[in-house]
Formats: sequence, structure tokens, C-alpha cells
Amino acid sequence: RKALVWFRRDLRHFDHAALYHALRDNDAVYAVFVFDRDILDALPSRTDRRVGFIHAAVLELDAALRARGGGLIVIDGRAEAELPALAARLGVDAVYANHDYEPQAIARDAAVAEALAAQGRAWRSFKDQVIFERDEILTQAGTPYGVFTPYRCAWLAALTPDHVASFPVAEHLARLRPPPVATPVPSLDALGFSACNLADLELPTGMSGGETLFADFRDRIDAYRQLRDFPARKGVSYLSAHLRFGTVSIRQLASYAWCHGGQGAETWLAELIWREFYQMVLWHRPEVVAHCYRPALDALQWDDWPEGFAAWCAGRTGYPIVDAAMRQLNQTGYMHNRLRMIAASFLTKDLGIDWRRGERYFAQQLNDYDLAANNGGWQWAASTGCDAQPWFRIFNPVTQSQKFDAEGRFIRRYVPELAAVPARFIHAPWTLPPVEQAALGLRIGADYPAPIVDHAAARARTLARFRVVAPAG
Ligand code: FAD
Repeated sequence: RKALVWFRRDLRHFDHAALYHALRDNDAVYAVFVFDRDILDALPSRTDRRVGFIHAAVLELDAALRARGGGLIVIDGRAEAELPALAARLGVDAVYANHDYEPQAIARDAAVAEALAAQGRAWRSFKDQVIFERDEILTQAGTPYGVFTPYRCAWLAALTPDHVASFPVAEHLARLRPPPVATPVPSLDALGFSACNLADLELPTGMSGGETLFADFRDRIDAYRQLRDFPARKGVSYLSAHLRFGTVSIRQLASYAWCHGGQGAETWLAELIWREFYQMVLWHRPEVVAHCYRPALDALQWDDWPEGFAAWCAGRTGYPIVDAAMRQLNQTGYMHNRLRMIAASFLTKDLGIDWRRGERYFAQQLNDYDLAANNGGWQWAASTGCDAQPWFRIFNPVTQSQKFDAEGRFIRRYVPELAAVPARFIHAPWTLPPVEQAALGLRIGADYPAPIVDHAAARARTLARFRVVAPAG
């Protein structure tokens, strides 16, 4: 029996559900990765950092498979058409892959499965990127959870060592087969993308990069709860892009956090559960991609303010914490979670702009862009989502800044115009008296923007906007 394993957002050769099952159940196993034109051609930029990240991960995966007697068949084309054609050329009995929960991927996989079935070949897919998927965690009434805390409790109550046990891929690696015809990984140039320097981003790539980051975080996990909200501190794991592309194994991460215990690890495990919560929401409610999770809130009347949106994107709103956050995103493709909440709240509640516009901008910029988490995060901040921030609770960008970047260390890093501003003024530099501005050689409104909105007035407008459609809160 022969099989083909299709790698997608699972770019590793260890603890891999589809690879394990293919190797266990077949005599000969091929591996394929498709640079999918349906995805690549839709990207707005030819310098997309994620293509660089994936490219590096594919190179490392190919080398690892080669070292074990296999190797990747690499295709540049449309996965939906290429996969069935390749399966036919190889004469495999089945194609193995891991579940994907995004609506477009579900449609693509259904089309591939149908084409394979027409050829008399099987499609086998497996849970891999989450511990619990789809409807494995339901309320006692058998419905999906709409609130996180009871979901987390049910998730933890259901967890057994089996759920986090690694798939023992290595036991069966002798069944790997090399590509019948050499298909080297194309260069980024050949794919139509220019190289971006991932080293500058301090984001190590591939399985080795994921392991380096996780090893570093294991030493810091006990402090996670205390430090995770402070963007100037090294408090979080920075593993999100690796989780997105599967260069780390969720079972190994969750297992470590679960066994390690303590407040830091428990808090971190809860973040991994948030990830699954939003995947579950997307699976049950795919319409959230375009609509508010709370349908009544689709009636919200957002403002159309192109200059406001452009200032937000560019990090030129005049609110230093928001601007530092957006500049971090634009420069590195990463934004700290606390800042994602502040920046998203600012766009929706201070500028009154539709969350979908911000969501789309993040989707273009984030190295770790994940439809479920991004949509969930945006709808949380906009108060339109599942277990979201209540609409009458509106972040004040100045007090958030004072609380989470008290000395302005993060702001100074990304907004160099304000580097010399004393900490007591850095959160609201427009309050700097003119003499002090002159002494610093800084003119607010010229060297750095004056605030584009008044927070108190914006807050009142937002409350009025929501009151129309959600009078009960
Ligand atoms: P850590 O704090 O180390 O957390 C570990 C992992 O848990 C993360 O890597 C991530 O996989 C998961 N996680 C943590 N917080 C959340 C959360 N709130 N929701 C879902 N998963 C979470 N995360 C993405 O992975 N992709 C996105 O596109 C994304 N967009 C977001 C948009 C907004 C508006 C908001 C408020 C949050 C978004 N998040 C997103 C969640 C979170 O901000 C990032 O996962 C986190 O900042 C990544 O950094 P880290 O790996 O160091 O996280």
C-alpha cells in the first residue's frame, strides 16, 4: 500500500498525526508541499514575511525528511488541482493530511477529497493542530460554548495524558520514500517573492527555530503571569507563528505546561485554550468571518474615515502607545497581545471604524495571522464577539499606556521622536508645556502628530453608537 502525506500548516516531521498514520498503515509513504497559488497570488505584497517564514520551514522539513530516507515533493501550483494529479501519478491508495478549520481550507479539502474519490483513492484527515476540536468540548446541553471560562474548565476536565501524547513517528520512518523525480524547493525569487531578512525580525524559523524559542520560554514560564502584559518585558513565548505553521507541536507545548504546573504555566495553558476556543467558534459559526458573532450588532453604523484609518495603519494617531504598537506590527510582523487589544480598541472605539477593516489590516501584516484567533481577537475588542469585552467598557489609551508601559520603554523603542520625552509626559505628549517642547526640540503637531481624536468625545460617540443596537449591553 502506498500513501501521500500533504503538509500544510504542520511543517514538522515529529509528532505529526497524518504522517504517523500514513507511515503506520502503509508500506511506502511520499510527502508533498504545495506553494498554493490560490493563497500566494492573493497576497498583497511580494515581500510578505510569511512566505519567507514558510519557505525556510519547508527547506528545513525537506532536509529532515531527506536525512531519513524521504524528502518533499515540492509543487508550485494550485493545490486543488495538483494534489489529485500527483496522487494519480504516484499511484497512491490514499492522501493523508491534518484537519484545517478555516472555511476556504475546508472547501479546498472537500474538493480534493472528491477528486480523489473519483479516482478510487481515499482521503484521510486527522486532528493535529489542536488538543480538542470541533464539537469535542460541548456544554451539558450539547451546544457549543459561547463563554470562555466554562469552556476552559470543561477542556481541562476532559484532558488526559493520551490527548497530549506525541505520535511516535520515528518508529516507522523506514517507510518514507524519496520523490521519484527530484523537485528541489524553488527559491523565493522563483516563487515571485523577494527575500525578507527574517534574522532582522529575531524570529528563528523552522522546527529548530520553534525549539529554540520554546527552550528559551521554558526558563521563563514561571514568570509568564506576572510579565505577559508588559510589552517592553520579555514575558511571552513568541511562539505564535510557529503554532500557526506547525513547526512546533501543540501536544508537546500543552503537555509541558500541564505537567510543569504553577501559576505561570497554568496561565499560559489558558492562552493555548483560547486558541482552541476561537478555532471551535469558527468551526461552528463560519459566518463570523464576515459578520458579528452577535447578529444584532451587524446593524452598528461605523464611521467611514479614510484619514483616520490611514493614520492608525501608519502609527501616526498621536497616541504613543497605539503608534508604537502599529509601528511594531509594520516593522516586524509581530504585535504584543496587550497592544493588539489596545490598537483594536482604539480603531473601533476611538476612531469608530469597522472592526473588519482592522482585522483585514492585521491579516496582511501579522506573521502569526490566524483567521480564528484574529477574528476572535477583533470581535472581542470591538464588543461584537463571543465572550467579548462589554461595549460600555472602553480602553483609555493613556491609562493603558501608563499601566502597561509606565516608563515608556516600549514607546521609545518604536516612536523615536519621543525618545527624550520624560515618562510623565510620554503617554500624552500633547500635554507637554510649549517651553518643555522647545527645550526638547520637539513640536507636537509637526515632529509628532497631535492626537487625531479626543478620547472623551470619542468614548461618548461610541456609547451612543452601541446604545442604538444593544440597549441592554
Ligand atoms: P503567548 O502569550 O506566549 O501565548 C501562547 C500562544 O497562545 C500564542 O502563540 C497563541 O497561539 C495562543 N494565544 C495567546 N493568546 C491568544 C488569544 N487571545 N487568542 C487566541 N490564541 C491565543 N493570535 C494569533 O495567533 N494570530 C492572530 O492573527 C491573532 N490576532 C489577534 C488580533 C487581536 C485584535 C487580538 C486582541 C489578539 C490576536 N491574537 C492572535 C492573539 C494573541 O495576541 C497572540 O496569539 C499573541 O500575542 C502571540 O504572541 P505569543 O506567541 O508570544 O503569545
